[in-house]
Amino acid sequence: PSDPTLRPDPLPEDADRALRPQLLDEFIGQAEARANMKVFIESAKMRGEAMDHTLFHGPPGLGKTTLAQIMARELGVGFRMTSGPVLAKAGDLAAILTNLEPRDVLFIDEIHRLNPAVEEVLYPAMEDFALDLVIGEGPAARTVRIDLQPFTLVGATTRLGLLTTPLRDRFGIPTRLQFYTEDELNEIVTRGARLLGVAADPEGCREIARRARGTPRIAGRLLRRVVDFALVEHGGRITREVADKALTRLGVDHLGLDGADRRYLMLMAEHYGGGPVGVETLSAALSESRDAIEEVIEPYLLQQGLIARTPRGRMLAPRAWRHLGLEAPKVPGP
Ligand code: ADP
Repeated sequence: PSDPTLRPDPLPEDADRALRPQLLDEFIGQAEARANMKVFIESAKMRGEAMDHTLFHGPPGLGKTTLAQIMARELGVGFRMTSGPVLAKAGDLAAILTNLEPRDVLFIDEIHRLNPAVEEVLYPAMEDFALDLVIGEGPAARTVRIDLQPFTLVGATTRLGLLTTPLRDRFGIPTRLQFYTEDELNEIVTRGARLLGVAADPEGCREIARRARGTPRIAGRLLRRVVDFALVEHGGRITREVADKALTRLGVDHLGLDGADRRYLMLMAEHYGGGPVGVETLSAALSESRDAIEEVIEPYLLQQGLIARTPRGRMLAPRAWRHLGLEAPKVPGP
């Protein structure tokens, strides 16, 4: 607990803890990933071994941390959590690794942001459950190998492409998380409303689900805000009208796009004739980091068919022009 590189209490800033599913069977959506995980967890338990290292990748808020916690709970082992940028020195990671109990789950969020010296420590740890320590300096330096307890590394990343190949290759179970369907989000919102103890019409939950950008974290956040409006201005019940009014006031449109999404689309339409535009140009014009554009904004716009990625840059798709209520420029035929 005194170790600043460890957060044994996962996400203390996460007010959503009450809504977080605790078991695989309570986890809604990601059917394919869930079915596979069930088998791998069961098999690891039957063999009495640490489960194979697992990598979750996909946009933020889709349940990577939640699944890692569920894995530990279902395996009946301890859960330790840290993140790539927090592990500054090789020693930070070594300290965590040497403190693991047998078969523990170590979760490293944002694993694509590990410093290379820290990553080096991870290779023998993942492969041989060993730590190679360099003792002494200069010609007298030598390496000592320390055995570690077998453990399961669970890595999470929003950017698979930024992982080095040697690191990526050491994960036996790479798992891609997908955006959730409206029906899945509807189940999540309905369950959330029940857990929060608020009265909600099915159409009210459905409206929140439809506008949650395919993302459970956003669904949870929108639900809480709609509850606020429902309580203060509408006698406490979430109806479709209440949800619609609240979400519109929050700047969430009918497709679930927020202000940042619309600024992105409007910029492409009004300043670049719909593209193609390079990501660096968009980043400068929007004053958003390139990472935020590529990790947070674009995946959903791509999934919704609002933009397309071409070798020359991003382009607005016809659906985006319609959504913005604008006329697409006439392109001369071939
Ligand atoms: P990530 O690590 O991918 O950014 P998290 O695991 O932190 O996402 O999930 C974000 C929030 O969404 C959490 O509060 C969690 O309770 C909720 N959540 C994620 N997946 C689900 C799900 N399948 N069902 C219900 N709630 C979920």
